[in-house]
Amino acid sequence: MRAILESFAAAGADSLGYAARWKAEHGRPVIGSFPMHFPLELAHAAGALPIIIQEAEDPITDGEGAVFSFYCGFNRSVADQALKGRFKVLDGIMFGDHCVQLLGTADVIRWNDPDMPIIFEQPVSSLDMAWAFAETRQVYAHLKQEIEELLGVVITDDALRASISLFNRNRQLIRRLYALRIEGRAGLTAREMQHVVKSSMVMDRAEHTALLEALLAEIEASPPPAPQGLPVYLSGHLCQAPKLELLDAVEQTGMVVVGDDLYHGYRYISTDVPEDEEPLAALAHWYIGRNANVPCPTRADGDADWDDFLIRDIRRTGAKGLIVLVAKFCEPHMYYFPEIMEACDREGILMLKLETEHDSMPMEAFKTRLETFVEVARRRLAATPPAAHVQVERSDAEQQYQ
Ligand code: SF4
Repeated sequence: MRAILESFAAAGADSLGYAARWKAEHGRPVIGSFPMHFPLELAHAAGALPIIIQEAEDPITDGEGAVFSFYCGFNRSVADQALKGRFKVLDGIMFGDHCVQLLGTADVIRWNDPDMPIIFEQPVSSLDMAWAFAETRQVYAHLKQEIEELLGVVITDDALRASISLFNRNRQLIRRLYALRIEGRAGLTAREMQHVVKSSMVMDRAEHTALLEALLAEIEASPPPAPQGLPVYLSGHLCQAPKLELLDAVEQTGMVVVGDDLYHGYRYISTDVPEDEEPLAALAHWYIGRNANVPCPTRADGDADWDDFLIRDIRRTGAKGLIVLVAKFCEPHMYYFPEIMEACDREGILMLKLETEHDSMPMEAFKTRLETFVEVARRRLAATPPAAHVQVERSDAEQQYQ
């Protein structure tokens, strides 16, 4: 189990290094993708290794000044990596504009390396429109054509179906891990869960799936771990993975993460692609259906509210508090946050918001706030009957944690 988790951690920490080794070994192309809305199955079916471009750990140096300083850490890190030449291993990048900041970052990539093929597509943002499905299918058909032209291959329906099936299997196995955590039968830390999901964004999916199967078999054969702490739910952080030391701090202060809607978490693996319909139509259904499962603030859908989803999922997972991780300057998240705050207020759910940064985070201050959050949550639990644990009135002292 340790060896599998370490290989996941290594691939996630150095995704471009992993891609370079894979490319040398297999002699096939690597396609980078901006996060969130591209079906990587299309690049996989073309014989490439698709990887989600990740925020790097190193400080932003060359890229400082390349984009506005009020861009989120993900964008500034991607611009920095471009200027440091880190994307040379990629044979192309799939790029969309789910957030206006990405447009500036894409320009930096283009300016720095004019030879880098950029496949630009705009997935539909208004998902509840009558034309959303047909338009999405058309966007993905065009994306397929562009990948075919870039790589000089034809993506057959059979190849696409096989990729969809493999990616579904991978997602299902990770969802099984999530279910085991809620049941208290998997003692994986939040750090380890991020290793699992992040590596699934970048590793050869067949290799990753085989390792996942072995990991699950070991976990299911092991005795359940002892109860670990106050169950909490993590929400937020869209394109970039939360810093591992922050996840550690949550657990070191007496909490256990039982659910999340992080992109480097449940959001990424929430939804399968239907396997019983024409592949491009299936991908379009996946794209629209994901938002019903885990609503995204970069999409507009009158039928799916992020705050409603959160309340439901906090109750489903048995979490006793919500920790919202907001990447500094993430506009889509900031627009939506007041709704989440109001919903927690209305439902009596204790919530703590932490704003994160790329280069420096006040970890000691975060730990103090986390410790106080746990203390407040424990007092509330002790003071209320079990059936009302998430429906209690807030005291004045608790207001600061909302
Ligand atoms: S959605 Fe948020 S995290 Fe993603 S690129 Fe935009 S600002 Fe950054």
